[in-house]
Amino acid sequence: MNLKPAILGGKPVFKKIVPIAVPTLPTAEAILPKFTAVLKTGMITNAVNVKKFEAQVAEYLGVKYAVAVSSCTSGLILVLKSLGLKGDVILPSFTFHATAHALIWNGLKPVFVECDQESYTIDCNSVEKAITARTCAIIGVHIFGNPARVEKLEDIARRHNIKLIFDSAHGFGSRYKGDNLGCYGDAESFSLTPTKLISTAEGGIVTTNDRSIAEKLIIGRNYGDSGDYDCAFSGLNARMDEFSAVLGIESLKMLESNVQCRNRLVSLYKSLLGGIAGLSFQRIDGDDRCSYKDFSILVDKNLFGMDRDLLSAALMKENIAVKKYFYPPVHRQKAFKRFSKGKNLKITDKLAFNSLSIPLYSHMEEDTVKNICLAITRIYDFAPKIRALKIKKGVS
Ligand SMILES: *Cc1c(COP(=O)(O)O)cnc(C)c1O
Repeated sequence: MNLKPAILGGKPVFKKIVPIAVPTLPTAEAILPKFTAVLKTGMITNAVNVKKFEAQVAEYLGVKYAVAVSSCTSGLILVLKSLGLKGDVILPSFTFHATAHALIWNGLKPVFVECDQESYTIDCNSVEKAITARTCAIIGVHIFGNPARVEKLEDIARRHNIKLIFDSAHGFGSRYKGDNLGCYGDAESFSLTPTKLISTAEGGIVTTNDRSIAEKLIIGRNYGDSGDYDCAFSGLNARMDEFSAVLGIESLKMLESNVQCRNRLVSLYKSLLGGIAGLSFQRIDGDDRCSYKDFSILVDKNLFGMDRDLLSAALMKENIAVKKYFYPPVHRQKAFKRFSKGKNLKITDKLAFNSLSIPLYSHMEEDTVKNICLAITRIYDFAPKIRALKIKKGVS
């Protein structure tokens, strides 16, 4: 057996690429009869299945209203619109860029703040410090499914009389102090795209306990037309179609098992990687549950023997797909740089430049996790030689 890592000419641990994420989908037997039934009615969008899915999600999450939309991003855009906001909105930079896009589409100014170095979620002290007379709202994000400090953020928002919204794209399956997310702040927007725990192909769903927000969302996803063809505000076409809703209804049944599988796989990852110098993991509070939409490792280049980028290159050579989430951090991206002049987000940069998401999906085999850990261990063992190669050949 050749023990050398593939980047040094050894045989890759995997013959075929291990993808970073794969949707866990319902079976064709469960789905197709329902698709056929939809076709027979001719009602292919925003009809009975959407209503049923909304009711099931609301019940599952324990929230009054759930409004299905075309994506988490359109959900966020419509929530901000429904709240009639003007001014500055505080948000983390260590997040997926969609959180920030939703602000720009509403003419709102993003104010990027730090995240907490252990939980990776928005840092409450930085939020408090960033509040000015122009601040109209805060957006929290449940990073990789780790719940943001929702109660602290609610307290800050209440004291300053500003709105609080959650980008809950990673939130299905997460629990804060034992309770499902979905009922915090003014509204939360969940994503249902294929890389999340459950998927409707494309789609999202907004949850809120505020009836007036729910009503505006329902109008907003229909161009802003409440039915009389006399729009009171500018909306979107952000409806969910019936096929997506069927997928959602069937996928929701799998959510609990998906999140449990991911938590088991992450325990295995942590037990096999925990002993390697220079690797650390996101901290999840003991009372909370992380959905593990992603599993990310933080690389300390001095202790591990190489930086995140070199580890990433070495893992790709082993046929292991990895992703530098979230890099570059949003405040450094071309579309948002102009909002972060003179900003120094040290912790955000540390996470963005040193984190690597490695494969995780709900039906992943334990052996795949074990072999990925074997690959990482081997790369670590050969770190000096891999570093030398980088200097010689400019591998990155
Ligand atoms: C996936 C994701 C989104 C966007 O979700 P869509 O449903 O694709 O619009 C927004 N925010 C975060 C944090 C995400 O990971």
